[in-house]
Amino acid sequence: MERLDKIIAGTGKYSRREVKELVRQGRVIVDGRLASSPEEKVDADAACLLVDGQSLDCRRYTYLMLHKPAGVLSARVDGRQQTVLDLLPPELRKRDLSPVGRLDKDTEGLLLLTNHGELTHRLLSPRYHVDKVYCARVEGVLTAADTAAFAGGMVLADGLECLPAGLELLSPQEALVTLREGKFHQVKRMLAACGKPVTYLKRLSMGPLRLDEALAPGAFRPLAEREIHTLL
Ligand code: URA
Repeated sequence: MERLDKIIAGTGKYSRREVKELVRQGRVIVDGRLASSPEEKVDADAACLLVDGQSLDCRRYTYLMLHKPAGVLSARVDGRQQTVLDLLPPELRKRDLSPVGRLDKDTEGLLLLTNHGELTHRLLSPRYHVDKVYCARVEGVLTAADTAAFAGGMVLADGLECLPAGLELLSPQEALVTLREGKFHQVKRMLAACGKPVTYLKRLSMGPLRLDEALAPGAFRPLAEREIHTLL
């Protein structure tokens, strides 16, 4: 249970002072009754809140699926370059969201943004082995020997030891790559080690979460309730 003014201000739509005023003016309804005080304790995840008759989503955690476009950094802020948080409207930017893991600047695809720190930690922890699936296009011609190398667990020339990974050929120059870990530039480094430099990379899924085909690059949507439950 949390204070009503904190919960409503946490949506980014109103300041705490504005919330106090709204409550005083009788414009806030909590579970069908007039809010009595900005200090009253409310369960943000369960309560039905209305401000001026409009329902307010004030659940504690926010989960967004973003189709990251190429050319944008997977970071919260950057002094010079556009970040994934710059793609969100101001009220969502105030929610203290972070990207779950990183995609390279030139990589597209599924990126989860959330302020649920515990979930972020779990999805990124090597202990939980969350599979990530990428579509990769390369220079050169992919072969069954590359698939075998991926499956065997590669050790790269720079010493990087990779867990066994999937490489399913879709065409001579395109494959689905499945990784259970997420080391720096890992897909690019593994394919480069096979002599097949990556020309295009897109993440399609992360654990049970699949990129919504209806999302254009740069677009986002909240996760559906059932998608959140598959992750928790
Ligand atoms: N592997 C890469 O090489 N780049 C990414 O962005 C993600 C995985």
